[in-house]
Amino acid sequence: MNKIVTRFAPSPTGYLHIGGARTALFNWLYARGVHADGNGQFLLRIEDTDRARHNEAAVTAILDGLQWLGIDWDGEPISQFERAQRHAEVAHGLLENGHAYRCWLAGEELEVARQKARENNTRFESPWRDYQGKTPDEPYVVRLKAPSSGDVLLEDKVQGEVKFSAAALDDMVLLRSDGTPTYMLAVVVDDRDMGVTHVIRGDDHLINGARQQQLYNALDWSTPVFAHIPLIHGSDGAKLSKRHGALGVEAYRDLGYLPQGLSNYLLRLGWAHGNDEIISTQDAKNWFDFDGINKSPARLDLEKLNHINAHHLRELDADSLLRLSLPFLEKEGFSPNEMQREQLLRAAPFLKERASNLSDVVSASAFILTTQPFDITGKAAKPLKKEGALETLKEIRELLSTLPDWNESALEKALQDHAESKGVGFGQIGPPVRVALTGGNPSPSLGQVLHVLGKGEALTRIDYQIA
Ligand code: GLU
Repeated sequence: MNKIVTRFAPSPTGYLHIGGARTALFNWLYARGVHADGNGQFLLRIEDTDRARHNEAAVTAILDGLQWLGIDWDGEPISQFERAQRHAEVAHGLLENGHAYRCWLAGEELEVARQKARENNTRFESPWRDYQGKTPDEPYVVRLKAPSSGDVLLEDKVQGEVKFSAAALDDMVLLRSDGTPTYMLAVVVDDRDMGVTHVIRGDDHLINGARQQQLYNALDWSTPVFAHIPLIHGSDGAKLSKRHGALGVEAYRDLGYLPQGLSNYLLRLGWAHGNDEIISTQDAKNWFDFDGINKSPARLDLEKLNHINAHHLRELDADSLLRLSLPFLEKEGFSPNEMQREQLLRAAPFLKERASNLSDVVSASAFILTTQPFDITGKAAKPLKKEGALETLKEIRELLSTLPDWNESALEKALQDHAESKGVGFGQIGPPVRVALTGGNPSPSLGQVLHVLGKGEALTRIDYQIA
């Protein structure tokens, strides 16, 4: 089996875009999955040639995002900028063997020539393409001397065979007049030197793929396998943009989504394995292939993300749930003490049941963490004001204080028996007790509430209302 080498090549924009994260995930899965038979490599290349916009923090943000998602890479990330000399060397090789040429067309002259080509519906061609005479002693760009007719064929694992007319592709610039390489040259040289066998990326790069194919042909280098994946669109079907909400992976992290939830969702967003919705990383590695990639753009669907994330949340054990929730609790001003941590651990099954993400866990925890004096107003306060409420609280307090077992079913049964012995419905006694215990915050069954709070805290809360 041939070695599989994939790569993720982000431009450092300051965050890991969810589209980029999905691209990284697909590349990672392919290199780590069955097709690579444990022999694949997933490489990172930072496309940092835009020096004006470049900063280290922007790179770190991308690496952090990948790490959070559980995507690891082999070796050190490669800086495209640092390879400029190598890129130039390849361009000069093409100059020497006649596959590229020096071009002095610049500024207004270039614009006019371009405009003319557009008007005549012809391929823009530089007068320097076949020039043989004496050349000016001025800065020049290096252009690829690409075939001006025929087709450029791209074999794509997702899009099939894609044909571009060579006449539509002008001679692209490889080196700028200051000697720096263009993106198109850098990508091809880097992919070659990194030994990349499979290029999986967004289909906004499809036309670049055709241009890169021309370059591979000129260099007589074998082309990697291309897989151009349809982009992610917003829920309205339009190209994903800021107005659709969170674009960066870190935003989803901060909203309380789990890495395994987001990555499961991103995997499903553009790839399918039958009707499987919940997919573990191991299954993803076993199953990921090009055949399952959708041919049309995927739409971002928050409801589906919530559904998938909720599932992964439910799989967490109580300790992990608490550990992961702590930063979110702290953000809301809760810093649970020892007793409250134990209460939260006991409440884990309930907390998980109602939550799609860790922020939901925080709101579901409020009945535990909001402490006396409760600020009970409006509708929530009604049961306490009802006639007989104080009596009920006193009776229940008495009942609870003498109960030998403090577990959910014993508590539930004791309350039921009490209601029966009084000849009233549970609806008579439950509400005031619940409000006294929870401050009117969303809560599970009364038995669960009592069990979660523990005897001491439950009695304290009831006593407070009685007083
Ligand atoms: N740097 C490009 C981007 O961020 C990716 C180029 C490639 O994958 O070939 O879209």
